[in-house]
Amino acid sequence: MALKLTDLKTEVHNDWCPGCGDFGILSAVQMALAEMSVEPYKVAVVSGVGCSSKTPHYLNTYGVHTLHGRSLPFATGIKLSNPGLEVICCGGDGDGLGIGAGHFVNSGRRNVDMAYLVFDNGVYGLTKGQASPTLKLGMKTKALAKPNINQGINPLMLALASGYTFVARGYAYDVRHLKELIKKAILHRGFAFVNVLQPCPTYNDILTKDYWSGEGRLDPGGRPIPRTYKLEDTRFDGVVRTPETGEMEEKIKQAMMKSFEFGDHTPIGVFYQNEFITTYEERLAGRSPSYKTNPPAGQEIVRPDGTPTTNISKLLDELRVA
Ligand code: SF4
Ligand code: MG
Repeated sequence: MALKLTDLKTEVHNDWCPGCGDFGILSAVQMALAEMSVEPYKVAVVSGVGCSSKTPHYLNTYGVHTLHGRSLPFATGIKLSNPGLEVICCGGDGDGLGIGAGHFVNSGRRNVDMAYLVFDNGVYGLTKGQASPTLKLGMKTKALAKPNINQGINPLMLALASGYTFVARGYAYDVRHLKELIKKAILHRGFAFVNVLQPCPTYNDILTKDYWSGEGRLDPGGRPIPRTYKLEDTRFDGVVRTPETGEMEEKIKQAMMKSFEFGDHTPIGVFYQNEFITTYEERLAGRSPSYKTNPPAGQEIVRPDGTPTTNISKLLDELRVA
């Protein structure tokens, strides 16, 4: 059945600030799901805490607004119990790379087949603009009394070092390009990370929409020169096709080098993609062959008379320390 954009919208009042980059990301997710005709009941959107973590409220799919930094373990549990769902995690840079950093790293090792969108604005918008883990050292956004004293994390580098098999960057105001990236992330077999440059007009007065569109940088004709460029418009190719040749390591290295470009010349697009790594679901199926045909969400947990079908006493007996 063809899906319309309106099928994916909700009536929930949206309280993002006017001009927030989150609107562009929400539109890109809705457009991607509509174009892919993924039925809303087959999608679960999971978030942590922050402005961007309100996203599940505005999407007419299943959704869970969880705890600060805990979207990935929730999403992992949902996907492993019901592998037929498309699971999409949404959250901010503070949520995912501050309190959630341990989950961020270890999710790369698992390679669960789902997508993670980080709305990266360099600040904790919901709590009035404190420096987030991605704000660069020395930057002084308007809510800071002094320039940022910490180094900023490079999220793409961290994802590459942690084993993510799809690593991309989008821009919230290039909605069509972002929509294509989100479609690729959903279709990717494995864990897909899309870091999205997301202007926060209320608290980040440095990395603004005007900044990314080229404010203060004019070509000889007086037109602004954008600070983002698309990897696909260059000779860059991040996709692994022949892993047996050592291509994987080469492509990770080239993506890492590319991830250092930031500021006047900031790449967006797919930095790295490798579908030759087993997913966590495949590893589970290797241990428990019935997993694929009979995952936990498909199993009966109660009999018609209301009594549970499971009895964990045998399992507990096995774990008992003599
Ligand atoms: Fe968006 Fe920033 Fe407002 Fe939060 S504080 S809704 S990130 S503009
Ligand atoms: Mg943030």
